[in-house]
Amino acid sequence: MKSVYPQLLDGKALAQRIQDQLKTEVERLKSKYGRPPGLAVLMVGDNPASAAYVRNKERACAKVGIASFGQHFPADVSQSEIEKTIHRLNQDSNVDGILLQLPLPEHLNGVYLLHQIDPDKDVDGLHPLNLGRLVRGETGLRSCTPAGVMRLLREYQIDVNGKHAVVVGRSILVGKPMALMLLEADATVTVAHLRTQNLPELIRQADILITAAGCPNLITADQVKPNAIVIDVGINRVTDTQGKSRLVGDVDFAAVRDMTQFITPVPGGVGPMTVTMLLHNTLLSYQKQLRS
Ligand code: NAP
Repeated sequence: MKSVYPQLLDGKALAQRIQDQLKTEVERLKSKYGRPPGLAVLMVGDNPASAAYVRNKERACAKVGIASFGQHFPADVSQSEIEKTIHRLNQDSNVDGILLQLPLPEHLNGVYLLHQIDPDKDVDGLHPLNLGRLVRGETGLRSCTPAGVMRLLREYQIDVNGKHAVVVGRSILVGKPMALMLLEADATVTVAHLRTQNLPELIRQADILITAAGCPNLITADQVKPNAIVIDVGINRVTDTQGKSRLVGDVDFAAVRDMTQFITPVPGGVGPMTVTMLLHNTLLSYQKQLRS
Protein backbone atom coordinates (compact mmCIF):
# COMPACT_ATOMS: atom_id res chain seq x y z
CA MET A 1 0.00 0.00 0.00
CA LYS A 2 1.27 3.45 -0.90
CA SER A 3 1.40 6.15 1.71
CA VAL A 4 -0.40 9.41 1.08
CA TYR A 5 2.53 11.40 2.44
CA PRO A 6 5.90 9.75 2.15
CA GLN A 7 8.30 12.40 3.43
CA LEU A 8 12.05 12.37 3.73
CA LEU A 9 13.44 13.17 7.15
CA ASP A 10 16.23 15.40 5.91
CA GLY A 11 18.91 15.09 8.59
CA LYS A 12 21.45 16.92 6.46
CA ALA A 13 19.34 20.08 6.15
CA LEU A 14 18.28 20.00 9.79
CA ALA A 15 21.88 19.44 10.93
CA GLN A 16 22.94 22.48 8.89
CA ARG A 17 20.24 24.61 10.53
CA ILE A 18 21.20 23.52 14.03
CA GLN A 19 24.90 24.03 13.30
CA ASP A 20 24.18 27.61 12.16
CA GLN A 21 22.43 28.23 15.49
CA LEU A 22 25.31 26.63 17.40
CA LYS A 23 27.80 28.83 15.55
CA THR A 24 25.96 31.99 16.59
CA GLU A 25 25.81 30.79 20.19
CA VAL A 26 29.50 29.81 20.22
CA GLU A 27 30.48 33.25 18.88
CA ARG A 28 28.37 34.98 21.54
CA LEU A 29 29.78 32.90 24.40
CA LYS A 30 33.34 33.11 23.13
CA SER A 31 33.29 36.90 23.11
CA LYS A 32 31.75 36.90 26.58
CA TYR A 33 34.03 34.32 28.22
CA GLY A 34 37.20 34.69 26.18
CA ARG A 35 37.61 31.14 24.96
CA PRO A 36 35.80 28.81 22.58
CA PRO A 37 34.42 25.41 23.60
CA GLY A 38 37.00 22.64 23.08
CA LEU A 39 36.62 19.04 21.96
CA ALA A 40 39.29 16.32 22.01
CA VAL A 41 38.67 13.36 19.71
CA LEU A 42 41.11 10.52 20.42
CA MET A 43 41.74 8.09 17.61
CA VAL A 44 43.89 4.95 17.67
CA GLY A 45 45.25 3.23 14.54
CA ASP A 46 44.34 3.75 10.91
CA ASN A 47 40.85 2.27 10.42
CA PRO A 48 39.74 4.24 7.30
CA ALA A 49 36.08 4.47 8.39
CA SER A 50 37.10 5.82 11.83
CA ALA A 51 39.54 8.26 10.22
CA ALA A 52 36.72 9.57 8.00
CA TYR A 53 34.39 9.97 11.02
CA VAL A 54 37.10 11.83 12.96
CA ARG A 55 37.81 14.16 10.01
CA ASN A 56 34.08 14.83 9.76
CA LYS A 57 33.83 15.70 13.45
CA GLU A 58 36.85 18.01 13.33
CA ARG A 59 35.53 19.74 10.22
CA ALA A 60 32.15 20.27 11.90
CA CYS A 61 33.89 21.69 14.99
CA ALA A 62 35.84 24.16 12.84
CA LYS A 63 32.61 25.24 11.11
CA VAL A 64 30.87 26.22 14.35
CA GLY A 65 33.99 27.60 16.09
CA ILE A 66 34.71 24.74 18.51
CA ALA A 67 38.47 24.25 19.08
CA SER A 68 39.85 20.75 18.37
CA PHE A 69 42.34 19.14 20.75
CA GLY A 70 42.32 15.73 19.04
CA GLN A 71 45.15 13.24 19.17
CA HIS A 72 45.96 10.38 16.83
CA PHE A 73 47.81 7.40 18.35
CA PRO A 74 49.57 4.54 16.52
CA ALA A 75 47.75 1.18 16.57
CA ASP A 76 50.22 -0.26 19.13
CA VAL A 77 49.82 2.55 21.67
CA SER A 78 49.72 1.31 25.28
CA GLN A 79 46.65 1.41 27.49
CA SER A 80 48.52 3.56 30.03
CA GLU A 81 49.43 6.19 27.43
CA ILE A 82 45.79 6.71 26.46
CA GLU A 83 44.77 6.65 30.10
CA LYS A 84 47.35 9.35 30.90
CA THR A 85 46.10 11.46 27.97
CA ILE A 86 42.48 11.17 29.16
CA HIS A 87 43.47 12.19 32.70
CA ARG A 88 45.40 15.18 31.32
CA LEU A 89 42.42 16.24 29.16
CA ASN A 90 40.08 15.81 32.17
CA GLN A 91 42.19 18.49 33.95
CA ASP A 92 42.54 20.81 30.94
CA SER A 93 40.12 23.71 31.37
CA ASN A 94 40.19 24.47 27.62
CA VAL A 95 38.75 21.04 26.85
CA ASP A 96 35.01 20.57 27.43
CA GLY A 97 34.45 17.29 25.62
CA ILE A 98 36.47 14.09 25.21
CA LEU A 99 35.51 11.40 22.72
CA LEU A 100 37.30 8.10 22.27
CA GLN A 101 36.69 6.99 18.68
CA LEU A 102 35.55 3.35 18.61
CA PRO A 103 36.34 0.61 17.75
CA LEU A 104 39.73 0.33 19.46
CA PRO A 105 42.44 -2.28 18.72
CA GLU A 106 41.92 -5.50 20.68
CA HIS A 107 44.78 -4.99 23.15
CA LEU A 108 43.03 -1.91 24.58
CA ASN A 109 40.26 -2.13 27.18
CA GLY A 110 37.70 0.28 25.72
CA VAL A 111 35.23 0.01 28.59
CA TYR A 112 37.94 0.79 31.16
CA LEU A 113 39.14 3.77 29.11
CA LEU A 114 35.61 5.15 28.65
CA HIS A 115 35.20 5.01 32.43
CA GLN A 116 38.28 7.25 32.82
CA ILE A 117 36.61 10.17 31.03
CA ASP A 118 35.24 12.85 33.37
CA PRO A 119 31.44 12.33 33.15
CA ASP A 120 31.02 16.10 32.67
CA LYS A 121 33.22 15.87 29.53
CA ASP A 122 31.71 12.61 28.28
CA VAL A 123 30.17 14.09 25.12
CA ASP A 124 29.47 10.62 23.68
CA GLY A 125 27.27 9.80 26.70
CA LEU A 126 28.91 6.41 27.26
CA HIS A 127 30.16 6.84 30.84
CA PRO A 128 28.11 4.70 33.27
CA LEU A 129 27.08 7.82 35.19
CA ASN A 130 25.51 9.36 32.07
CA LEU A 131 23.95 6.06 31.03
CA GLY A 132 22.56 5.74 34.58
CA ARG A 133 21.13 9.26 34.36
CA LEU A 134 19.42 8.26 31.12
CA VAL A 135 17.92 5.16 32.76
CA ARG A 136 16.60 7.35 35.60
CA GLY A 137 15.34 10.07 33.20
CA GLU A 138 17.69 12.67 34.72
CA THR A 139 19.46 15.34 32.68
CA GLY A 140 22.93 14.42 31.54
CA LEU A 141 25.02 14.02 28.42
CA ARG A 142 23.15 11.76 26.00
CA SER A 143 24.54 9.38 23.42
CA CYS A 144 24.77 11.37 20.16
CA THR A 145 23.12 9.06 17.61
CA PRO A 146 19.90 8.32 19.53
CA ALA A 147 19.78 11.95 20.70
CA GLY A 148 20.03 12.94 17.03
CA VAL A 149 17.14 10.61 16.15
CA MET A 150 14.97 12.09 18.91
CA ARG A 151 15.77 15.63 17.71
CA LEU A 152 14.89 14.67 14.14
CA LEU A 153 11.53 13.26 15.29
CA ARG A 154 10.85 16.36 17.38
CA GLU A 155 11.71 18.83 14.62
CA TYR A 156 9.35 17.02 12.22
CA GLN A 157 6.69 17.08 14.95
CA ILE A 158 6.41 13.32 15.07
CA ASP A 159 4.77 12.44 18.35
CA VAL A 160 5.98 9.10 19.68
CA ASN A 161 3.68 9.12 22.71
CA GLY A 162 1.80 5.82 22.92
CA LYS A 163 3.18 4.55 19.60
CA HIS A 164 4.75 1.14 19.24
CA ALA A 165 8.46 1.68 18.50
CA VAL A 166 10.58 -1.28 17.44
CA VAL A 167 14.35 -0.81 17.77
CA VAL A 168 16.47 -3.33 15.88
CA GLY A 169 19.87 -3.54 17.62
CA ARG A 170 20.85 -3.49 21.29
CA SER A 171 24.34 -1.98 21.31
CA ILE A 172 25.35 0.34 24.13
CA LEU A 173 26.17 2.98 21.49
CA VAL A 174 22.82 3.04 19.67
CA GLY A 175 20.12 0.42 20.38
CA LYS A 176 19.94 0.51 24.19
CA PRO A 177 20.07 4.30 24.65
CA MET A 178 17.65 4.65 21.70
CA ALA A 179 15.14 2.38 23.43
CA LEU A 180 15.49 4.30 26.70
CA MET A 181 14.98 7.68 25.01
CA LEU A 182 11.86 6.43 23.24
CA LEU A 183 10.56 5.04 26.52
CA GLU A 184 11.23 8.40 28.17
CA ALA A 185 9.11 9.98 25.41
CA ASP A 186 6.26 7.55 26.29
CA ALA A 187 6.54 5.18 23.34
CA THR A 188 5.88 1.49 23.88
CA VAL A 189 9.24 -0.01 23.00
CA THR A 190 10.34 -3.41 21.74
CA VAL A 191 14.05 -4.12 21.25
CA ALA A 192 15.09 -6.76 18.72
CA HIS A 193 18.46 -8.44 18.15
CA LEU A 194 20.00 -11.48 16.52
CA ARG A 195 18.22 -13.91 18.84
CA THR A 196 14.81 -12.34 18.28
CA GLN A 197 12.34 -14.83 16.84
CA ASN A 198 10.19 -13.87 13.90
CA LEU A 199 11.68 -10.42 13.38
CA PRO A 200 9.54 -9.65 10.27
CA GLU A 201 6.35 -10.20 12.29
CA LEU A 202 7.58 -7.81 14.96
CA ILE A 203 8.63 -5.18 12.43
CA ARG A 204 5.16 -5.34 10.86
CA GLN A 205 3.74 -4.11 14.21
CA ALA A 206 5.98 -1.04 14.38
CA ASP A 207 4.44 2.42 14.10
CA ILE A 208 8.01 3.65 14.40
CA LEU A 209 10.83 1.42 13.22
CA ILE A 210 14.40 2.30 14.15
CA THR A 211 17.02 0.02 12.76
CA ALA A 212 20.66 -0.03 13.90
CA ALA A 213 21.85 -3.49 12.91
CA GLY A 214 24.54 -2.81 10.30
CA CYS A 215 22.92 -5.23 7.86
CA PRO A 216 22.08 -4.05 4.30
CA ASN A 217 18.57 -4.90 3.06
CA LEU A 218 17.55 -6.31 6.44
CA ILE A 219 14.25 -4.43 6.23
CA THR A 220 12.19 -5.15 3.12
CA ALA A 221 8.90 -3.67 1.90
CA ASP A 222 6.78 -6.70 2.83
CA GLN A 223 7.77 -6.29 6.49
CA VAL A 224 6.93 -2.62 7.00
CA LYS A 225 3.57 -1.47 8.33
CA PRO A 226 1.91 0.92 5.86
CA ASN A 227 2.42 4.56 6.91
CA ALA A 228 5.10 3.64 9.42
CA ILE A 229 7.90 6.02 10.37
CA VAL A 230 11.23 4.45 9.44
CA ILE A 231 14.54 5.64 10.85
CA ASP A 232 17.58 3.94 9.36
CA VAL A 233 20.67 4.30 11.55
CA GLY A 234 22.65 1.62 9.69
CA ILE A 235 25.67 2.60 7.62
CA ASN A 236 26.95 -0.16 5.36
CA ARG A 237 29.42 0.04 2.49
CA VAL A 238 28.32 -2.17 -0.41
CA THR A 239 29.77 -2.75 -3.86
CA ASP A 240 27.36 -2.87 -6.81
CA THR A 241 27.58 -5.13 -9.87
CA GLN A 242 29.75 -2.55 -11.67
CA GLY A 243 32.23 -2.64 -8.79
CA LYS A 244 31.19 0.80 -7.54
CA SER A 245 31.09 1.24 -3.78
CA ARG A 246 28.39 3.24 -1.97
CA LEU A 247 26.81 3.66 1.46
CA VAL A 248 23.43 2.14 2.28
CA GLY A 249 21.44 1.65 5.46
CA ASP A 250 19.66 -1.43 6.80
CA VAL A 251 16.47 -0.65 4.88
CA ASP A 252 15.76 -1.45 1.23
CA PHE A 253 15.11 2.24 0.75
CA ALA A 254 13.82 2.22 -2.86
CA ALA A 255 11.18 -0.41 -2.10
CA VAL A 256 10.18 0.76 1.39
CA ARG A 257 10.11 4.52 0.84
CA ASP A 258 6.65 4.84 -0.73
CA MET A 259 4.95 2.80 1.99
CA THR A 260 6.08 5.07 4.79
CA GLN A 261 4.83 8.26 6.28
CA PHE A 262 8.38 9.44 7.01
CA ILE A 263 11.74 7.86 6.25
CA THR A 264 15.41 8.81 6.65
CA PRO A 265 17.76 8.47 3.67
CA VAL A 266 21.27 6.99 3.98
CA PRO A 267 23.43 8.98 3.64
CA GLY A 268 21.92 12.31 4.72
CA GLY A 269 19.58 11.11 7.49
CA VAL A 270 20.83 10.16 10.95
CA GLY A 271 24.59 10.54 10.25
CA PRO A 272 24.69 14.37 10.09
CA MET A 273 22.47 14.54 13.20
CA THR A 274 24.98 12.42 15.16
CA VAL A 275 27.80 14.87 14.47
CA THR A 276 25.54 17.80 15.30
CA MET A 277 24.57 16.30 18.65
CA LEU A 278 28.27 15.90 19.44
CA LEU A 279 28.72 19.65 18.87
CA HIS A 280 25.58 20.31 20.93
CA ASN A 281 26.89 18.16 23.80
CA THR A 282 30.27 19.94 23.69
CA LEU A 283 28.48 23.28 24.02
CA LEU A 284 26.42 21.93 26.95
CA SER A 285 29.60 20.78 28.74
CA TYR A 286 31.24 24.15 28.08
CA GLN A 287 28.26 26.02 29.52
CA LYS A 288 28.26 23.74 32.57
CA GLN A 289 32.00 24.25 33.07
CA LEU A 290 31.61 28.04 32.86
CA ARG A 291 28.82 27.98 35.44
CA SER A 292 30.82 25.91 37.95
P1 NAP B 1 26.77 -3.26 16.75
O1 NAP B 1 27.46 -2.95 18.03
O2 NAP B 1 27.39 -4.24 15.80
O3 NAP B 1 25.28 -3.74 17.09
C1 NAP B 1 24.44 -4.24 16.10
C2 NAP B 1 23.17 -4.72 16.77
O4 NAP B 1 22.28 -5.17 15.78
C3 NAP B 1 23.39 -5.89 17.72
O5 NAP B 1 22.60 -5.70 18.87
C4 NAP B 1 22.93 -7.10 16.92
O6 NAP B 1 22.33 -8.12 17.72
C5 NAP B 1 21.85 -6.49 16.04
N1 NAP B 1 21.72 -7.18 14.76
C6 NAP B 1 22.67 -7.35 13.82
N2 NAP B 1 22.19 -8.05 12.76
C7 NAP B 1 20.89 -8.31 13.05
C8 NAP B 1 19.86 -9.02 12.39
N3 NAP B 1 20.07 -9.59 11.22
N4 NAP B 1 18.67 -9.10 12.99
C9 NAP B 1 18.43 -8.52 14.20
N5 NAP B 1 19.38 -7.85 14.89
C10 NAP B 1 20.60 -7.76 14.32
O7 NAP B 1 26.58 -1.94 15.89
P2 NAP B 1 26.25 -0.42 16.35
O8 NAP B 1 27.50 0.26 16.78
O9 NAP B 1 25.06 -0.38 17.22
O10 NAP B 1 25.87 0.19 14.92
C11 NAP B 1 24.79 -0.35 14.19
C12 NAP B 1 24.76 0.27 12.80
O11 NAP B 1 24.57 1.67 12.92
C13 NAP B 1 26.06 0.10 12.00
O12 NAP B 1 25.74 0.01 10.63
C14 NAP B 1 26.80 1.40 12.25
O13 NAP B 1 27.70 1.73 11.22
C15 NAP B 1 25.65 2.36 12.29
N6 NAP B 1 25.87 3.58 13.06
C16 NAP B 1 25.46 4.71 12.47
C17 NAP B 1 25.59 5.90 13.14
C18 NAP B 1 25.10 7.13 12.48
O14 NAP B 1 25.45 8.22 12.89
N7 NAP B 1 24.24 7.01 11.46
C19 NAP B 1 26.18 5.95 14.41
C20 NAP B 1 26.57 4.74 15.00
C21 NAP B 1 26.41 3.56 14.32
P3 NAP B 1 23.13 -8.95 18.87
O15 NAP B 1 23.24 -8.01 20.03
O16 NAP B 1 22.27 -10.10 19.15
O17 NAP B 1 24.47 -9.28 18.27
